[in-house]
Amino acid sequence: MRVLGIETSCDETGVAVYDSERGLLAHNLYSQVAVHAEYGGVVPELASRDHVVKLLPLVKETLAESQTDTSDIDAIAYTAGPGLIGALMVGACFARSLAFAWGCEALGVHHMEGHLLAPMLEDKPPEFPFVALLVSGGHTQLVDVRGLGDYDIIGESLDDAAGEAFDKAAKMLDLDYPGGPAIAALAKSGTANRFKFPRPMVDRPGLDFSFSGLKTYTLNTVAEHKTETGLPDDQTCADIAFAFQEAVVQTLAIKCKRAIEQTGYKTLVMAGGVSANIRLRELLSENLKKVGASVFYARNEFCTDNGAMIAFAGCQRLLAGQSEPLEVHVRPRWDMTQLPPLDNASL
Ligand code: ATP
Ligand code: MG
Ligand code: FE
Repeated sequence: MRVLGIETSCDETGVAVYDSERGLLAHNLYSQVAVHAEYGGVVPELASRDHVVKLLPLVKETLAESQTDTSDIDAIAYTAGPGLIGALMVGACFARSLAFAWGCEALGVHHMEGHLLAPMLEDKPPEFPFVALLVSGGHTQLVDVRGLGDYDIIGESLDDAAGEAFDKAAKMLDLDYPGGPAIAALAKSGTANRFKFPRPMVDRPGLDFSFSGLKTYTLNTVAEHKTETGLPDDQTCADIAFAFQEAVVQTLAIKCKRAIEQTGYKTLVMAGGVSANIRLRELLSENLKKVGASVFYARNEFCTDNGAMIAFAGCQRLLAGQSEPLEVHVRPRWDMTQLPPLDNASL
């Protein structure tokens, strides 16, 4: 089965062609970062309009690269939520219209299920069951993953997502959006042990997270060390970036180890933008090795939003027989545990 995947939940237009026999054939991404840069955050209406402009050229390019004729496409998978309503509507209407024109099926995919399955696009895919750490711009969740569509959220952030915390801390240090890569780069020249930031909620039992206190702590530290430039000196900024990153990754790693011990699983899969963080990858691999578990993650470009993960997730659901009516229906808020489990999935 050959599936065209379309991702438009936020500020990235992602398109891919995935073939269940031959794997990923092509993928392309257009990031709107420059469109939103002057506003200091994603402007939903601008996002929708930009998806309208970029989708068709990206689809043409991706079909050509994958040497796929429109008649070779068996189905179109698109992100139906969660995300920005306007951006989702553009992708859904586009996908449904193409499917109608090409006479093929279309299926709405859950964006977080897309992230969760993205590591399966790699050469050594993880096997069910596993614990998933979803760490992105809008989510920080620990998920008990028993099979395709069989999910239980066993822990989550009570306030900010980890990626959101990275983005806000970056703003305090006057770094560009997205903040995660910017903080990680600056942290490289940071001094260990100059600052020790709190590790939120690690002394409490359970698997939930909280990052808003860490954000306030960062803001106060920046304010205390301000120079006449309005910012701390360069070395202090790097030391703050180091301490902040360390606090986030240590907190995530502690809870992941706890989730592995609680479930008895031997596999942890991390996905979402923050899973591109090298320090997090190192620390998780190190900590989980001690309890006999291994860590899986996607290549960097499939940690953040992309069309490949949507094509892949959609393909698995279509192969297992899922289909949907012709109406255009998106869900800006969508609980992943409400997805139908699939008994006859081939994964
Ligand atoms: P969601 O998937 O929850 O709807 P989103 O789609 O905006 O949110 P992603 O695209 O998965 O999120 O990830 C983007 C986030 O990942 C941003 O917050 C960004 O700062 C963060 N991020 C990206 N790379 C890194 C990195 N190397 N270290 C830490 N954070 C990172
Ligand atoms: Mg994004
Ligand atoms: Fe995402």
